[in-house]
Amino acid sequence: MEIRFEGRRALVTGAGKGIGREAVKALRAAGAEVVALSRTLEDLESLAQECPGVEIVCVDLMDWPATEAALSSIGPVDLLVNNAGIADQKSFLEITQDSFDRCFAINVRAVIAVSQMVVRQMIERGVPGSIVNVSSQISRSALKNFGVYCASKAALDMLTKVMALELGPQKIRVNSVNPTIVLTKMGHENWDDPEKAADFISHIPLGRFAEVDDVTNSILFLLSDKSAMTTGSCLFVDGGYLTS
Ligand code: NAP
Repeated sequence: MEIRFEGRRALVTGAGKGIGREAVKALRAAGAEVVALSRTLEDLESLAQECPGVEIVCVDLMDWPATEAALSSIGPVDLLVNNAGIADQKSFLEITQDSFDRCFAINVRAVIAVSQMVVRQMIERGVPGSIVNVSSQISRSALKNFGVYCASKAALDMLTKVMALELGPQKIRVNSVNPTIVLTKMGHENWDDPEKAADFISHIPLGRFAEVDDVTNSILFLLSDKSAMTTGSCLFVDGGYLTS
């Protein structure tokens, strides 16, 4: 099954590192024009060098007005990947107002801000669109010390479904991918302890963490017309973790 995106324009958030960065490269390789949004300029500049033709937008998604300003002139977008996210490791009793606000501002609120801008211009242009929100396996599976992160991804799954419900009539599909652990910067920050990693992997029937490609392949499938009848779905890229 070949997936191509010639003539389509994509926006990927959190594109400086990890899953977002590889999603930009995969979309480019599949023929899409790509706008890469992230917070650290050096990451975006090195991505633009590595992947000629990629347009870059440097903004902190914590700041809704700055995000709207930065996106106001990016032009038409047909495909959106809301990938930027943070995971703050804190036990329930350590959670602070600041850690809660930061996590929900980036993992949920920014998805609303960015998607509103993209969807408004899709509707104005009268074109179909596809949006993929990068959620997590832990939206459905409680994990100690990640209370706020788990809650933010559960919220993102439900936001995905409501967006799908409201935007379906405009032919705009909205789905999520829900990966298990991937050893990106975020993955390494939380899962480098071999004992902790081995214990987690023992609950994954396929016996390994996910690779970045496992996630980007699912993102591209959901963005593409190969999933034309799929909306409001959460695609788990978890090696079967949730079956156990
Ligand atoms: P990562 O390696 O930490 O990369 C995250 C990217 O998002 C970075 O480029 C980061 O920029 C950007 N970003 C974060 N906050 C931002 C903000 N406020 N404004 C703009 N850009 C921002 O993380 P990843 O592992 O690729 O994770 C990508 C997504 O997958 C996240 O939504 C995460 O929750 C989800 N996920 C990850 C895993 C995993 O195990 N890695 C598992 C399930 C789901 P800076 O570096 O400049 O901050």
